[in-house]
Amino acid sequence: MSESRKILMVSSEAVPYAKTGGLADMVSALALHLRESGDDVRIVIPRYYSIDKSKLEKINGPLGVPTGTDEKWTAVYKDMLKGKVPIYFIDYDQLYGRAGIYGPSGSESFEDNAERFNLLSRASFQLCRMLGWYPDVMHCHDWSAGLIPIYLNTTEFAGDFSQTASVFTIHNIGYQGVFPAEETIHTGLVETAAMLHKDNMNFLKCAIDQSHVITTVSPTYAKEIQTEQYGEGLEHLLDYRKYDLYGILNGVDYNDWNPETDPFIAPDNYSKEDMANKKKLKALLQEEAGLEVTDKKPLIGIVSRLADQKGFRELCEPFYGCLASLCRYIDLQFVILGTGEKWCEEELSRLNSTLPNLHAWTEFDNRKAHLIEAGSDFFLMPSRYEPCGLNQLYSLKYGTLPIVRMTGGLADTVENYNQQTGNGTGFTFYDLTPEAIYNVVGWAVWAWYNKKDHIEKMRQKAMSRDFSWNEPVKEYRKVYDIAMTKRRS
Ligand code: ADP
Repeated sequence: MSESRKILMVSSEAVPYAKTGGLADMVSALALHLRESGDDVRIVIPRYYSIDKSKLEKINGPLGVPTGTDEKWTAVYKDMLKGKVPIYFIDYDQLYGRAGIYGPSGSESFEDNAERFNLLSRASFQLCRMLGWYPDVMHCHDWSAGLIPIYLNTTEFAGDFSQTASVFTIHNIGYQGVFPAEETIHTGLVETAAMLHKDNMNFLKCAIDQSHVITTVSPTYAKEIQTEQYGEGLEHLLDYRKYDLYGILNGVDYNDWNPETDPFIAPDNYSKEDMANKKKLKALLQEEAGLEVTDKKPLIGIVSRLADQKGFRELCEPFYGCLASLCRYIDLQFVILGTGEKWCEEELSRLNSTLPNLHAWTEFDNRKAHLIEAGSDFFLMPSRYEPCGLNQLYSLKYGTLPIVRMTGGLADTVENYNQQTGNGTGFTFYDLTPEAIYNVVGWAVWAWYNKKDHIEKMRQKAMSRDFSWNEPVKEYRKVYDIAMTKRRS
């Protein structure tokens, strides 16, 4: 294989343009690191309403995109991600010109999402034609780019894309892109069987069925999704394709997430050699959250989508969750930043007004996310499942010990505390119950009060762990080569 590959990333999100979760971080960071390794990598995403087109360059067009029902005339805009990676925006107001990426809120979806994201797939091919640039690999991320592999195997099998392989990454199997079977009409394909699952159109199932290579974002999650407990109904298909399935842990972009250089916490940056400013940031966080400003109590942070997946039922469902008990019976403080399911936002707002040692912001705020990573003592992630999880990786780098349930990427990255030796980088537990969360948080707080030397030792170890993109990029390049060999044979 040649040393430089042409890779087109197709995604519904990419930082800093559009983000609801870790997918956006991963797509941009992987692209930038592939570029550094010498690959010609480009990204394509929709031009949502929130992306200001006056800041982008309009490129020659319009772009005609055939769909199953008509031909749509889209505009194309371009920017250079961090001045290094071309990113193209498919602009089609009727489908993308509204607030929200998948729906008007975190818990609602747009009714025409099948049409919206079919357009993204088909426009990606037309974009390449317009550029006269044909990728070796189309790297498709999550269900919203999930129809590309079937197009490569059907309409695009011969001709311009005959040498183009598909790599599909599952970032979260809980979101599959399921629509009534009639929605296959948008594709114009007659071969609908691969698109269907349990009588519905299913983008994710189609991608797993049709891709040359499938990846997911941690080795443990790759195994978990082959089981009934985690496979969300696709476990048999994944088991069938297990020899084409690779678990590659996401890296962290330490240009953005590093306490030594993080502009969001400047001028109070800190390092593992000099942690003094971490205390200042804790005080700042307490002040902004309206909590008592003190270093005599441990502060526990959460930054998360407010979703069942993240363990929020066990944390704060009325009459069930343990958050109120944790705040009432353990001498600690909590800050929570998150948006998502409405019941959860409402419950957190209610707890906010009744518990003086808790503050919850129900908003999306990148600066606060950085401040919570830096200013907290612990970072809690009681996830039901966690494909990779980025926040625990950020926490490790910021010396904010993660408290995590042993699943997916959390199990691959956090080493449990050993009370005898003081070894470990965090606190882990298995059962997803309010009692188990209560106990593990209690254990961490106990160590914070009684084993200060262990906490310091763990912080040092956590901050020394390297979860940069160096290794994952090498693995993705290998996977691209495997996919290209498959396509070309
Ligand atoms: P997921 O992709 O499942 O949501 P990850 O841990 O992989 O979870 O990534 C979540 C990303 O989104 C992190 O970068 C996190 O800091 C960010 N994030 C989540 N909620 C918020 C919020 N309310 N404000 C700012 N950043 C947030």
